[in-house]
Amino acid sequence: MIHKVVIIGSGPAGLTAALYTARANLNPLVLGGLEWGGQLMLTTEVENYPGFIDGINGPDLMENFKKQAERFGAEIINSNVTSVDFSKKPFKIIAGENSYESQAVIIATGASARWLGLENEQKLIGKGVSSCATCDGFFFKDKEIALVGGGDSAMEEALFLTKFASKVTVVHRRDKLRASKIMQDRAFKNDKIEFVWNSEIEDVLGDTTVTGIKIKNLQTNESTTKDVSGLFVAIGHIPNTGFLKGHVDLNENGYVESKGTQSNIDGVFVAGDVHDFRYRQAVTAAGHGCEAAIDVEKYIEINGL
Ligand code: NAP
Repeated sequence: MIHKVVIIGSGPAGLTAALYTARANLNPLVLGGLEWGGQLMLTTEVENYPGFIDGINGPDLMENFKKQAERFGAEIINSNVTSVDFSKKPFKIIAGENSYESQAVIIATGASARWLGLENEQKLIGKGVSSCATCDGFFFKDKEIALVGGGDSAMEEALFLTKFASKVTVVHRRDKLRASKIMQDRAFKNDKIEFVWNSEIEDVLGDTTVTGIKIKNLQTNESTTKDVSGLFVAIGHIPNTGFLKGHVDLNENGYVESKGTQSNIDGVFVAGDVHDFRYRQAVTAAGHGCEAAIDVEKYIEINGL
């Protein structure tokens, strides 16, 4: 069987693309990954997705996305795509032992936040540990928080967090920031931001919610603890594009190169964080999913597929 469209990924971008292509009678097949739902499955309260006055739980929101797409006939399979062949049409998508053929493909595999890799950090994600200031900053009104990272994202998030927090302590592993000069200047000028240099976070403290962090100075090897209510991890993202290397153009950081929703391969479209490293919001990802679906619909029609 040759599918009209296969969607790889099942976060807000993939499932919105599924909803729109299903309603356009394209019978989309979604290869949603072994752990479907994307980054919102790791959050608790989502207060900035429009339409939910009182906010909604991340996993509940994604369950709604899924059911809505399924209601119009989208088929969603929980399997990881391991490889693709975009060299000829129909395209081939391989997920372990199974292989699928499709006229068009939407890549919506997202990007995963890079974490420190500490056991307690993982345990407390959504309970004080966060990788998204825009999403979670609001929960830290008048609280002291810490942030790790020294890039543009880290500075942008630290500055954003000063709107809520009483103090933001930035812990960075070197004595120089990687961030652009303008972002550095803004951060240095903000008196709510304090820097702890040449240091790494050894542990996140707290049982059910974050109560502090353990910081190790990498020059003296001395450890100190600091009371904070939250830890924001801003040490970069990793786009989920390993299986695409050599099959579609990626930029130097591994994000899919795109013009609008179009990749460099005619018939292969992209949506969401897998190509958008700027906005990274559920609502923008969903918007891209809608755009990609409409572009696929046109592509199928123009090519008489
Ligand atoms: P990034 O530039 O790669 O910075 C990552 C930061 O995290 C670096 O300071 C790095 O330290 C630190 N880091 C990495 N792994 C770590 C670890 N295991 N433990 C502790 N620290 C660690 O990532 P990004 O800030 O997300 O930015 C990605 C790209 O998007 C960049 O090109 C950036 O310029 C761009 N961006 C631009 C804007 C803007 O213009 N407003 C906003 C956001 C992002 P080291 O410095 O020691 O390597």
